[in-house]
Amino acid sequence: MIFLIAIIGGGIVGTLIARELNKYVEDVWLFEAKTNFGMAVTKSNSAILHGGYDDPPGSLRAQLCYKGNQLYTQLQKELNFDLKRVGSHVVAIEDEETNYIYDLLKKAEKNGVKEVRIVEKLELLEMEKNINPKAKRSLFCEIAGIFDPWIVAIQAAKSVRINGGRTLTKKRLVEVEKKNGKFLLKFQDKSEYFADLVINAAGLYADDVAKLFGDEVPEIFPVKGEYFLLSKDYQYVNSTIFPVPTGISKGCLVLPTVDGGYLVGPNANRVMSKNDTATTREGLNEIREKGMRLVPNLNFRRHLVKTFAGLRPETEKKDFYIDVGKSGAIHVSGIRSPGLTAAPAIAKYVVEYLIQEKIGLKIYQRENYIAEMEKTPHLVHIDRDKWNKIIQEDPNAGEMICHCNKVTKKEIIDSINNGARTLDDIKFMTRASFGECQGGFCTAKILKILAEYTNRDPREINQNEDGTWIVNAKVRI
Ligand SMILES: Cc1cc2nc3c(=O)[nH]c(=O)nc-3n(C[C@H](O)[C@H](O)[C@H](O)COP(=O)(O)OP(=O)(O)OC[C@H]3O[C@@H](n4cnc5c(N)ncnc54)[C@H](O)[C@@H]3O)c2cc1C
Repeated sequence: MIFLIAIIGGGIVGTLIARELNKYVEDVWLFEAKTNFGMAVTKSNSAILHGGYDDPPGSLRAQLCYKGNQLYTQLQKELNFDLKRVGSHVVAIEDEETNYIYDLLKKAEKNGVKEVRIVEKLELLEMEKNINPKAKRSLFCEIAGIFDPWIVAIQAAKSVRINGGRTLTKKRLVEVEKKNGKFLLKFQDKSEYFADLVINAAGLYADDVAKLFGDEVPEIFPVKGEYFLLSKDYQYVNSTIFPVPTGISKGCLVLPTVDGGYLVGPNANRVMSKNDTATTREGLNEIREKGMRLVPNLNFRRHLVKTFAGLRPETEKKDFYIDVGKSGAIHVSGIRSPGLTAAPAIAKYVVEYLIQEKIGLKIYQRENYIAEMEKTPHLVHIDRDKWNKIIQEDPNAGEMICHCNKVTKKEIIDSINNGARTLDDIKFMTRASFGECQGGFCTAKILKILAEYTNRDPREINQNEDGTWIVNAKVRI
């Protein structure tokens, strides 16, 4: 009898759970409502690999954050994505903030995090020359890092496909029935699938999805965080700079992105709708002011690339809720920060503890499992001689399409061969149109390549979801 495991939700958590399970079971099916993986909460956040020193000792967050941080070293090698352990500082500017830094040090000890130390003013200003000169000292964590979390989700989904699992997009779960001991999963597009075991990793909607199974999990409410993305033109900071936090969040930070830009944000405001990702004038003013308290020379006028907002899946308890429901489905819910960092540890918790120990399912590691994955390198980052050789074999590697982020036609074609079908797929898989001009110069070219290599009319190409077309009449491109 075939034993099929379904995962609902293809963010960083769902894709890594699918990948972890796929090491044991071939028939893992991942269902995602959007057109690609990692396109919801996983794409709009600070993208920090946290050190795990500040989560409340004894919480599930604390248990899984530091472990997740450590698991990223192996994960990065296997899934082949950029990860830079640039470190992080929590900076005390006022004298009274210093006490918090020492409290954090004690918390780090309780959480088993050894890789932290207090850095005094002189050393801090040497490490970060643009930081507020009034800064007194900081708590430095050397294992904190930065990465592109949506790439992890996209690569993890690809790894499931390579290892015999199925990954399906545009599959929004809307109804569940229990039939002959199995779950009958019904999707918005009217398709239906039977599954023996289901894992709900639906992010902001995990509480709504739990209800489809007749299960209760803590209610999720969205807490918005707004950001500025600044360009690579000036080197503001080398590492992530945190303020002493507020009670609601880790505070508004200044940090580098893994491809060389900078983020300033986020704030934290509870909103009514799980779709409200609009930025606001008040919110942006707030983070501009808070960012400049940490790094006074931030130049928002000259270096602004874009603003954006993400929604934290928050609960009253502020902790992850990961358990088996009465229905027998597993709910991975309330995955707020540090969910990106904890994700690989959450995946192991679900597979090794909930499935193998608590449910008692006997599963064994597959011998034919392929852990390591290839990914087209960003050509501008490789050695020039190597790049020249690649151009000899494939002239598309010498044709620059996105001039801001230096993305070649070859990289765009490779992403299409890896499943990209929308402009956002190309944007998030290659960073083309992600730079200063925000696609002003390259969108038409990318549209043409997408149409040609997927054998479609340009009018059929969407930005992301169905109906988000770019051109709706015959045009000359
Ligand atoms: C402002 C902000 C800053 C943050 N900063 C950090 C940070 O620096 N470091 C860190 O570690 N964490 C951070 N986080 C937390 C982190 O982003 C989240 O914990 C993580 O992305 C959650 O991933 P997920 O896979 O659970 O959710 P998602 O990425 O939202 O994935 C859930 C998926 O389920 C799909 N889905 C929903 N309903 C259905 C359905 N009915 N059927 C099928 N599919 C469905 C969605 O489309 C979505 O793709 C931050 C979060 C925010 C908002």
